[in-house]
Amino acid sequence: MNYPKSIQQAIEALRIFPGVGAKSAERYVLALLDLSDSKREQFIADLHGLNHVRQCKVCGNYCEGEICEICKDENRDGSTICVVASAKDLLAIENAGFFNGRYHVLNGVLSSSKGIYPQDLNLDALFERIHQGNIQEVVLATPLTMDGEMTAMYIDRKLNDSKILVTRIARGLPMGGQIDYADMTTLKQAFSGRKKVDHDE
Ligand SMILES: [Zn+2]
Repeated sequence: MNYPKSIQQAIEALRIFPGVGAKSAERYVLALLDLSDSKREQFIADLHGLNHVRQCKVCGNYCEGEICEICKDENRDGSTICVVASAKDLLAIENAGFFNGRYHVLNGVLSSSKGIYPQDLNLDALFERIHQGNIQEVVLATPLTMDGEMTAMYIDRKLNDSKILVTRIARGLPMGGQIDYADMTTLKQAFSGRKKVDHDE
């Protein structure tokens, strides 16, 4: 005896989430079935809305049009680009409210153990932006983890010959150096304590 096919399929669909096994997925689907028809329809419509989400053609941030609100905003300092691993990190920095430059989202960090190489990240667009635009400073705000450091070093090396100031956010972030978990004060300190990347390191 098993659930009708549509329930089985919904359970299977929910298992794409990290940490969601068969039991949890089953619980979620049954909870959805417990909702009133209108609430369930609203839930499904909300998820459907994700189909409108795109990545900004300039910076890789999530947006609903071609270009994100930050890239469109003419009041922001276009001469500074803050490079982050994810849109989640961008949001953490943005919500801390001290940075008025623009961003570039890499969609991950380089990782030899996970087999993530430069071509897998949003790097070409970054270098293109840097070489085309009037960029004076690139702030490397990738996580302060081994992979994050490796990614920062890679970008810095690529910009070695340019006249652009390349800085790295300071240490002092919580263990693992995750940007999205840092509180606003810590993030602000990490930014204001950023240092020019030392090529001899
Ligand atoms: Zn953008």
